[in-house]
Parts: sequence; structure tokens; C-alpha cells
Amino acid sequence: MKCKVCNSTKIVEVVNLGKQPLANKYPKNNTEILNEKKFILKILFCKNCRAGQIKKIINRNILFEDYYYLSSVNKKLKEHFERLAIKIKKYNFVVDIGSNDGILLKPLKKLNVKSIGIDPSVNVGKIANDRGLETYIGFFDKNIIKKILKKNNKPDLIVASSVVTHLENPIKFAKDIKSFLEKDGTLIIEIEYLQNFLKNLEFERFYFDRPFYYSANSIKELFRNVGMKLYDIEKIEPHGGSLRCFIKNSLNTKISNRCKKILNNEKQNLNLNAFKKFNKQIYKNSKILKAQLNYFNKKGYNIIGYGAPARVSTITNVAKIDSSLIKYIIDDSPLKQNRFSPGMNIKILPRKNNINKNIDVVIVFAYEYFKDIKKFFTKIKVQFFKPIPFGKL
Ligand SMILES: [Zn+2]
Repeated sequence: MKCKVCNSTKIVEVVNLGKQPLANKYPKNNTEILNEKKFILKILFCKNCRAGQIKKIINRNILFEDYYYLSSVNKKLKEHFERLAIKIKKYNFVVDIGSNDGILLKPLKKLNVKSIGIDPSVNVGKIANDRGLETYIGFFDKNIIKKILKKNNKPDLIVASSVVTHLENPIKFAKDIKSFLEKDGTLIIEIEYLQNFLKNLEFERFYFDRPFYYSANSIKELFRNVGMKLYDIEKIEPHGGSLRCFIKNSLNTKISNRCKKILNNEKQNLNLNAFKKFNKQIYKNSKILKAQLNYFNKKGYNIIGYGAPARVSTITNVAKIDSSLIKYIIDDSPLKQNRFSPGMNIKILPRKNNINKNIDVVIVFAYEYFKDIKKFFTKIKVQFFKPIPFGKL
């Protein structure tokens, strides 16, 4: 077996999360629950480029045919992209790969920057187009590049935020970027940072939608192999601490000091030993979560969850938590409401009419947004907890 990021054979299994469903498939009824597919979720680590990757890669058509994640529902993420738009307004033509419902296109349009998006999800891409944010629906590949270049010049900036993690073939992606981007153009890639998964014990960030997990070194290797150069990295907030990587479509660019620092730090801290500790902690902390919920349950407490991001699936399936422990989960996305969480099938409900005096404990799955979530409960007395590592919020 070879690393699909750098082609090295120095690849080792480091994490096993057991049988897991597809984390973004929310069944709507009993028939869909009975038909849920589950696969063993194992993570491999490449000792050469320091990328993580899922052992069994699921066909993307199964994963994305109906997708339920609308970026713009998420206020923090919206602000993140508004700030990014201001930062990149000097560019002439921006292509946003994985543009979702137009979360970056919208502020760019306001700033009069020419921009178009590419997104594979039919229903989400349509929402953007209906809002007047030009979006090509399909995967980023040679066909879509051809279609775009028929009507436009090459972009001088490509943005791909939370995209490379979803790819089936990163090397092909890098080659396509190289040919699509203007000479000396810039690529901005935002990645959830593998090193932070380990640091924050965020095993729930591994799920089948996302076969690849990157470090700065793996991004460097991936693009160096096609003649592009990682020259700067900014640490950014989303998704538990992410990296914004700047890559030039040429090799003669100076690397910034902060970039060098991050690359060197990984060489010391992101290794097999770190994964060994991580794997032990996953099982230890999943047991703690379940034991706590059992304890609350015995005391007669009513437990609900708040937020049904994909991580709900990974956490509840590893810890084996179903609706006997968490009665229901509130989520603000209409696309998830009145469906069930994947695998453990906990009912997902809207906020309206479902926050009441009977609730004693709230497990905050969308803990990044705790400040906002807390406000919905001001009239009742509840206790809030982060699921992993289990702790009071
Ligand atoms: Zn590799």
C-alpha cells in the first residue's frame, strides 16, 4: 500500500474506530435506518509526508448525492469567510473550490471581486445559483476546468477551504490545480490540522466523507511534486484550529519563518508515538462519556444533545450511545431536522418547542458555538457538557 499524497510506502495503521456509518447521511425513516451502510473505519499514517488517510475509501458519488451541510447556516464560519474576502480582494479572478452555498462568493461579490464557485452537491450548488452566486456544479476536474476556461481567463487565485480532506485522489487534484492556475498565481488551502486532532483528542474528525487528513508537511510534499511551493502558513480558528496554507504556482518563492517553524515542529511532534497515545485516549474517553451518561440516566436526568454535525456520528458510534441515553438532539439546520443521527439513530429536532423545563443535561456536540447555544437556555436551569474529553462547559 502506498500513501496517496506522496506515493511513499512508509504507511502504517494507527487508529481503528470500528464499524461506522456514513457520517453525513441522516436517515429519515425506519426503511432508511434499516438500509444504513456501515464500514470499518481505520486510519493510516504516512511516516514520510505525515498525512493521515482512511484505509477504505468510499465512492464519492454515494457520499455527496444529497449533502446536508450548509456553510452559511454557521455564523462563525460566515464571519471567517467575510474576513478572508477582504484579505483577497486585490486578486482579479478568484475560483472557490467547494464553494458550498456561496459563503465566500457572497462577500467577494459585495467587494466587486470577480469570482465563481465549484461544488459537487446539486442541492447546495443550486441554492448558491439561485442567490446569483455563479456556481459550477460538479467535482473539480479537467471537464469543469475546460468549461470555466471557455468563458474566463485562468484564475490568479484559487481557494479551497475544507476541500482537500474530501478528495479521492489528491495527486490528481494537485496536477489539475497546477494547470488551471495562472503562472505565479496563488492557491489558498485551508485544512483542519491533523496535529490538533491529536492535541485536542478530536478523533471525531475522522469520518468516511473525508479520506485525507493533512499536516503542513503533507501539503508541502503534495504540491512540491507538481512544481508548486508552500511558502506561508497562517493559523486560523475554524474546526478546532486549522491551517491556511499559501502555495505559489512556481518554485522561486521565499518561505516565511512561521511556515518553517510549523514544518519543523511537526517533525518532532507528529509521529507514531503520538498516535499510540491518541488511540489509547480515544477508548478511555469514550468509556468515560458513556459512564457519565449512564450515571445521569440513573439519577433520572433528562439528557439531550445540541448540534448534529458529522462528529455526532463518530462519537456516538464509538461510545455506543443511542436514544436510551440521549433523548434527542437539537439542530438548527432544517435539512437535518426530523431525521435521525447516523448509526445510533437519535432523533434530530428543531429548537422550537424542544427546549423545555424537563431538560437537565445538554451534551453540546457543536461546542465551538457554545456561546450562542447557551443563550437559548437562559430561562431554564441545565448543565452543559462537552462530550470528548468529557467536561463541564
Ligand atoms: Zn505520504
